[in-house]
Amino acid sequence: MIADYIIIGAGPAGCALASRLVNSSKSPKVILIEAGRPKPSILNIMPAGLALLVRAKGAYNYGFKTTPQAELNNRVGFVPRGRGVGGSSLINAMIYIRGQKEDYDEWKNMGCNGWGWDDVFPLFKRSENNAFFHNKLHGDTGPLKVSNLASPNPASYDFVKAANECQYPLNEDFNGASQEGVGLYQVFQHEGRRYDAGTAYLGELKNHPNLQIISDATATKILIENKKATGVIIKTKSGETTLLAQKEIVVSAGAINTPQLLMLSGIGPAKHLKEMDIEVAHDAKNVGQNLQDHLDYTANMRVKADGLIDFGLGGLKAALGGLIPFLTNGKGALTTNAAEAGGFIKSSPDVERPDLQLHFCVSNVDDHARKMHFLPGIALHVCVLRPQSRGEIKLASSNPLTAPIIDPNYLSADYDKDTLLKGAKIVHKILSATAFKNYDGKMIYGNIDASDDELRQLIADHADTIYHPVGTCRMGSDEASVIDPELRVRGMDGLRVADASIMPTLISGNTQAPSAMIGEKASDLILKDL
Ligand SMILES: Cc1cc2nc3c(=O)[nH]c(=O)nc-3n(C[C@H](O)[C@H](O)[C@H](O)COP(=O)(O)OP(=O)(O)OC[C@H]3O[C@@H](n4cnc5c(N)ncnc54)[C@H](O)[C@@H]3O)c2cc1C
Repeated sequence: MIADYIIIGAGPAGCALASRLVNSSKSPKVILIEAGRPKPSILNIMPAGLALLVRAKGAYNYGFKTTPQAELNNRVGFVPRGRGVGGSSLINAMIYIRGQKEDYDEWKNMGCNGWGWDDVFPLFKRSENNAFFHNKLHGDTGPLKVSNLASPNPASYDFVKAANECQYPLNEDFNGASQEGVGLYQVFQHEGRRYDAGTAYLGELKNHPNLQIISDATATKILIENKKATGVIIKTKSGETTLLAQKEIVVSAGAINTPQLLMLSGIGPAKHLKEMDIEVAHDAKNVGQNLQDHLDYTANMRVKADGLIDFGLGGLKAALGGLIPFLTNGKGALTTNAAEAGGFIKSSPDVERPDLQLHFCVSNVDDHARKMHFLPGIALHVCVLRPQSRGEIKLASSNPLTAPIIDPNYLSADYDKDTLLKGAKIVHKILSATAFKNYDGKMIYGNIDASDDELRQLIADHADTIYHPVGTCRMGSDEASVIDPELRVRGMDGLRVADASIMPTLISGNTQAPSAMIGEKASDLILKDL
């Protein structure tokens, strides 16, 4: 099989790229390879299904693990990643956030020409189809449908009141003029149903003559001749097939699998590749380095309130009661994304821009919901928006189907430890506010008035990812960067990367919209060269 472009991985970035390429006036022939299934299941479409999808490895979730984390009591973290056309947008919490203007201006200052806020803002707008905001800061004709939550839980409004009491002001649009404040999140949903990136970008293109989507197919190796990428070997149920690219191959397999595939193909740190018995095609020392993620401290509270999600009788009642409204008009408890509310706040008044993000959940979220609670609860999460800790991805084996080694090296930077501690204090303060008094809350771990030392211990015992790994194929204009600002793999021909792995630094917020923006940008760069 042969195409002009082969894109590996159908997450938000890969879907955006494939769609824009074939829909352009030049309409090159594109093959999009995806390891997972072609379509979402009912659990993916029904927003509350995420409670079951995130917690366990399965058809739609790789369910990776980290190495034992020294600063987290040597605990092994859980790393859910989505699999299927739509990628992690099939299992994520659907929150629509772009990040802060300064994040992208910082990328530009770091040498990523063409990636400042003024460059990327039009791409965010182009990708967005906002059902609620119709103004110059938002797009309302793009593929990614964004809306307000269909039936927010009353507890989410109480969270906003509690945070207001603690002097964090209401913000009705986190993607508006300023990100700062607290409020309800907008979500990637349409009429109360998840609107994943595959449905958004490719839903109407499945029969396009120039697009071939090969799902249930894992790319195991990029073929390289004299430092030029020429084809891809894929593995399916029926065996191995070689696909050839006449123009370019773009890897969009996400921040964990993109560096893995490059290394499996001989592009990576020569020493490590040799240890793995992989022939070195191109010594690129920083492939897999610079891993950054949002580490999250969660305070879980058992409460007395109706309509919250739990794994017990109350939750069952809410789910059953929510079935008819969900099926008939996209309303009710099953439309919840769990993390309904939150905000962007400063850890102290002297900080220039928000450095902490809050996620308020209408359920207990204990160890990614792997520890099930059978009584109603709420959870307030906090993460440091721009962490300084850096980790890495390495190969565990030369077998492409073996998960890579993931070491986020959480809290290795003092700044992250200090800032997360400040965040944890704020979380406990908000949960103590009078707006929550009627909830009669009981902390599941630790005390609401925990001391700094106790909070440090709670963080070490319970903090884990809030699912935003990035940076493992860092973009830059310096020689050490893996990718140049046109997304080409340095030192190689015919090979680009377009996904969350290219981010030089983690943006201040959730990473789906920025990943789709990267796919949008990749299409512009590729079409310019075509
Ligand atoms: C549980 C969870 C909750 C999250 N919540 C939010 C949220 O609320 N809001 C938000 O903005 N972000 C959220 N995120 C993050 C967001 O979903 C990701 O940042 C985003 O999806 C990354 O997009 P991507 O295109 O880089 O890669 P991914 O979405 O990771 O997609 C990569 C795709 O490539 C495929 N692939 C990998 N290797 C191969 C291979 N060798 N061959 C073929 N295919 C391959 C994978 O199967 C996958 O489909 C969440 C993520 C998770 C996991």
